Amino acid sequence: MQSSSGDASTPLSVSDRLATFPRIILGHTPTPLEPLRRLSEHLGGPDLYVKRDDCTGLGTGGNKTRKLEFLLGDALANGATNIITQGAVQSNHARQSAAAACKIGLKCDLVFEHRVPNPSDDYLTSGNALLDQMFGARAHHLEGGTDVNAEMERIADELRASGETPYIIPVGGSNPIGALGYVDCAREIVAQCRDSDLEPGYIVHASGSGGTQAGLVAGLGACGSDIGVSGISVSSPTVTQEALVYSIARETAVLLGFDDAVRQEDVVVYDNYIGEGYGLVTDEMIAAVLLLARMEGLLFDPVYSGKALAGMIDLISKGVLDNDRPVVFIHTGGSAGLFAYKSHFSG
Ligand SMILES: *Cc1c(COP(=O)(O)O)cnc(C)c1O
Repeated sequence: MQSSSGDASTPLSVSDRLATFPRIILGHTPTPLEPLRRLSEHLGGPDLYVKRDDCTGLGTGGNKTRKLEFLLGDALANGATNIITQGAVQSNHARQSAAAACKIGLKCDLVFEHRVPNPSDDYLTSGNALLDQMFGARAHHLEGGTDVNAEMERIADELRASGETPYIIPVGGSNPIGALGYVDCAREIVAQCRDSDLEPGYIVHASGSGGTQAGLVAGLGACGSDIGVSGISVSSPTVTQEALVYSIARETAVLLGFDDAVRQEDVVVYDNYIGEGYGLVTDEMIAAVLLLARMEGLLFDPVYSGKALAGMIDLISKGVLDNDRPVVFIHTGGSAGLFAYKSHFSG
């Protein structure tokens, strides 16, 4: 006889559903959920916790590792010999993709769009750019505004012509397959909170290509959790980013088999912490990164998690994230990027 979990009357759990997708373990999970005691006291708001997705372990870690576990699972299931992906020159996604390719023995092409005007030498050669080179990825550099997807297709055609099987990973690994990684993170957070009697009101994190937020929203919905997700945009206006996240979240929920897990109102994005644009520093980001370094001994990053921290601090000061329930900040990684921005932090 089958175990009772196979009974038709028992709905499949989120973990059961996740287990049906090809996956390659690349990271250290579950990542820790830790209190930010000194910061909570300093801000005088809700109790703050940090979910340490900077500790996923692969090539200095970060949020893309969770997505790559499912994306590369799919790539290998499709017989891939090469992966191709894209990002900004200091892309943490490109760096984790390059490291993952090394670990499983695939070749890696990275297409870089120069999105930050007047880059410094550090920006072009240090931080993630240095690590990509160490991982032996082949780099292709394009001017800002070029059709990066067309370039990835061109490289794929070239590789196919020479008998290889390329697998294209979209920017940030943000499609429904990649977002499954953050369905799993949502499941992990729900389990960790249950084990430690925590009832967070909100999860706050940086939102860029959208897959992280989409996976979280789909995963929390599928788990029946009432934790809200506040995405802090690092590039796009609220309307655009909410539409992007909602669309990936819906598709992810369908892929998972929890079609009704996502409602439009579950997707909340704040766009007032971007500053002049993607990858450009703000005073609030620098202050937040230094505050966390000096108060908690934690390193965040200039492009994503630092701006998200600045957002969380401001939302707390305005009472938008109320004091009644704890707040979980997801540290999505990226501190390797600090070295690319070192002139802004060495004052
Ligand atoms: C990519 C990235 C994000 C944003 O995640 P998306 O899934 O692209 O929205 C946040 N923080 C860091 C450090 C990242 O590298």
